[in-house]
Amino acid sequence: MTNIHRIQVAIPYPVKWVNCYYIEDSLPTLIDTGLNLPDSFEVLAKGIGDAGGDISSVRRIIATHGHMDHSGLAGKIQEISGADFLVHASDQAKLSNDPDDLKTRMEAFHSFLSEAGVPDPSVKEVVSRLLEMFSSLIKPVSGFKPLYGGEVFGFDDFELHSIHTPGHSPGSICLHSEEKGILFSGDCILEEVIVDPMSDIRSLVEHQASLDMIAGLPVRKVLPGHGAAFSDHRRRIRRIRDRHKTRSDKILSILERSGNGKSRIPFSIASELFSSMSGMDALYCVSSVVAHLELLEFNGTIDSPAALSCGGTA
Ligand SMILES: [Zn+2]
Ligand SMILES: [Zn+2]
Repeated sequence: MTNIHRIQVAIPYPVKWVNCYYIEDSLPTLIDTGLNLPDSFEVLAKGIGDAGGDISSVRRIIATHGHMDHSGLAGKIQEISGADFLVHASDQAKLSNDPDDLKTRMEAFHSFLSEAGVPDPSVKEVVSRLLEMFSSLIKPVSGFKPLYGGEVFGFDDFELHSIHTPGHSPGSICLHSEEKGILFSGDCILEEVIVDPMSDIRSLVEHQASLDMIAGLPVRKVLPGHGAAFSDHRRRIRRIRDRHKTRSDKILSILERSGNGKSRIPFSIASELFSSMSGMDALYCVSSVVAHLELLEFNGTIDSPAALSCGGTA
């Protein structure tokens, strides 16, 4: 795949790097961007240069989803290149750092965490860190073309089909080429880590449906949003589903041990499940528990508890 170049850009998260893919073509295209940080821009520009292109000549930026490590630099690249920016319509709200939009998002995170039983000082800490990250690591785009799934992107010698695969985020997409046997999977399937969905309503239920759909695709090589490319996507999907089952079973046994009282509070369950929850962990751990409770409820394993009234934070 000589015309597809992976450029790894550092990010200050445990996964350390995000993959951006530059496709050399008469319509030079970038899939995912990294965060809005000067170093990230330089690495990306150098990577595109090394591949024989020029960042100012990029014509099309496609984001696999609206998380800032995948789309935070889009506004800056658009500014210098005038490229079209394409992202699924359901992730549009994640791309803004307009103060009013951020206020609405922070209120949603605040009520999600509070309703999940997270103690007030932790809620305040998480929300203030999120506000700081969203304010600085996203360069707002000047405009975007919404995707809905089903679009076909033409290249000189192949096509990429967008497939809506909600779950990791509401607007996650994968890009598939049957002729090349490749799948750009964003964060839907990674080889090295399992990323739980983030506090969006019924995220795990949707994520599992998306995984089932991806398992049905003919794919020889997965090009993920983080980590190395890999083959045998069905083996990886089985492994991810096994991990989901293990965690759901653990949550179920916590619920069974302590009856239907206080243990139904997501934060209480998370405190039993995870050894420590400092800083941002409170958000990730509680989101995971809420997602699994929703899955258990969806599968009819548990009744709908009041503690699940927490909404999403899209
Ligand atoms: Zn993501
Ligand atoms: Zn990511």
